[in-house]
Amino acid sequence: METNFSKEQLKDKDNKSAEKILRKCVHCGFCNATCPTYQLLGDELDGPRGRIYLIKDMLENKKPANEKIVKHIDRCLSCYSCMTTCPSGVNYMHLIDHGRSHIEKTYKRPFSQRLIRDFLSTVLPNPTYFKIIGFLTLIIKPFQFFFPKTIREMISLMPIRFPKKKLPKMKVYSPTKRKKPVARVALLTGCVQTVISPQINEATIRLLNRHGIEVVVPKGVVCCGSLDHHLGKNDLAKKTFKKNISIWHEEYLKKGLDAIISNTSGCGTTLKDYGFIFRSDEDFKKKAKKISELTKDITEYLDENVKLIFINNKENKKNYKIAYHSACSMQHGQKIHNTPKDLIKKTGNEVFDIPDGHLCCGSAGTYNLLQNDIAKKLLKEKIINIEKLDPQFIATGNVGCITQISNGTKIPILHTVELIDWYTGGPKPEVLRKL
Ligand code: SF4
Ligand code: SF4
Repeated sequence: METNFSKEQLKDKDNKSAEKILRKCVHCGFCNATCPTYQLLGDELDGPRGRIYLIKDMLENKKPANEKIVKHIDRCLSCYSCMTTCPSGVNYMHLIDHGRSHIEKTYKRPFSQRLIRDFLSTVLPNPTYFKIIGFLTLIIKPFQFFFPKTIREMISLMPIRFPKKKLPKMKVYSPTKRKKPVARVALLTGCVQTVISPQINEATIRLLNRHGIEVVVPKGVVCCGSLDHHLGKNDLAKKTFKKNISIWHEEYLKKGLDAIISNTSGCGTTLKDYGFIFRSDEDFKKKAKKISELTKDITEYLDENVKLIFINNKENKKNYKIAYHSACSMQHGQKIHNTPKDLIKKTGNEVFDIPDGHLCCGSAGTYNLLQNDIAKKLLKEKIINIEKLDPQFIATGNVGCITQISNGTKIPILHTVELIDWYTGGPKPEVLRKL
C-alpha cells in the first residue's frame, strides 16, 4: 500500500512503525474472510482492511478521530484472526494499538462512554476494587432492570460467586519434596483472575512445585496493563508496564528467573509485546526486551521444560471427550495452538477442535462489556459450534473466555492447567465434580 507520511511525521516512532506496517498491506482482503466482525456485520469498515484504511487516513492526514471512525475501531475485537490469515505479514496488532491511542488523544467520547471506560480502567485491574464492586453488584442485581442497558448487561456479566483462595498468599512457593529447585519462575497471577478463578493460579503453582520448580509472585505485580492498553489509555498502561518490567527485571538480576509464566493468554500476548512497546525508550528497552523473552504461556513452558509425571487414579481414569477452545490471544496473538492440545492428549483423553475455532467467543478483554450485542452473537455461534461436538467439558487457556463461554452453556469449562494439574496428582477440578 502506498503511504504519504511527511518526513516530519516519520520522526515519530509510532508513525514510522505504522508506515512500515501499512506498506506491507496489498489490499487483497483475505483477512476479511476470517474477521468475526466482518462476517457478522458485512461492512467493509468492520473488517481489518477497512479499519486499516481508517487508521491510515487518520494518521497520514493528522485527522482527529470522529464518531464514525471510533464506531468501527471500537468494534474490533483485537482477536488478531486477520494476522493469522494475512499472507503479507501485516502486523495489525501494532497498527490498531496506534489507532486506539490516536483516538484517545483526539476524540472526546460522550460522557456516559467516558464514565464507563474510566470505571473499567479503575476497577478491573484492582482486585480489591473488583471484589467490592462484585459484592455491590450482588446486592443490586435484583433491581438491575432500573439501570440503562449497558449497565444492566455489565451487571448480568458479573460473577455470582467469588471462590475462596485455598493457597496462602506468599511471595515464594517452593517445591516441598526437593531441597534445590530445578528451576525458578515468576508467575503473573493477574487481576480479575485472582478474584473470580483463583484455582487457576493455585493449579499452576501446585503443578510447577510438584515438578520441582520454584514459583515466585513478586509483590507489586498485579495487572499486566493490557486492559488500559486496549482501551487506548496508553499513559496508564505504560505506567503499569514500567512497574512490572522494573520488578521482574530486579528479581531476574538478583535471584535469577528462568521464565515469567502467564496462564492468561491475553496477558501473555501483551507481556510478549513489552519489548516492542519500549523499543525506543532508552531506559527501558533492554529490560522490556528481556521480560518479553522470558515470558512463556504455561503450556509452552510445560511443553519445553517439564517432564510431566502423569498419575492415574480411580477418579481421573475416564476417557473424556474434551472440546479445546483456542483463545484468540493464544492462537492468533501468541501463535500457540497445538501445544495445549498435545498436553491434554497426554492425559489419555480425546481432544477436539471446535468448528470455526478461529472465530472469537466475544470475550476479548472488556469487549463483552462494551460491545455487548456483537459479543452475544459471537457467543451464540461459539456455543452452537461447541455443542456440535457434544463434549463432556471444554478446556481453554484464558479466564476471559472461560467467563464468556460459561455464560452461554452448562457444559463445564476449565483452564488447561487445572486439567494437567489433576492428571499429575492435583485435586479434581471443582467444575468437574459432577462428571
Ligand atoms: S482483530 Fe479480529 S475483529 Fe479486529 S479486524 Fe482483525 S480479525 Fe477483525
Ligand atoms: S490480508 Fe493482509 S495484505 Fe491483504 S488486505 Fe488484509 S491486511 Fe492487507
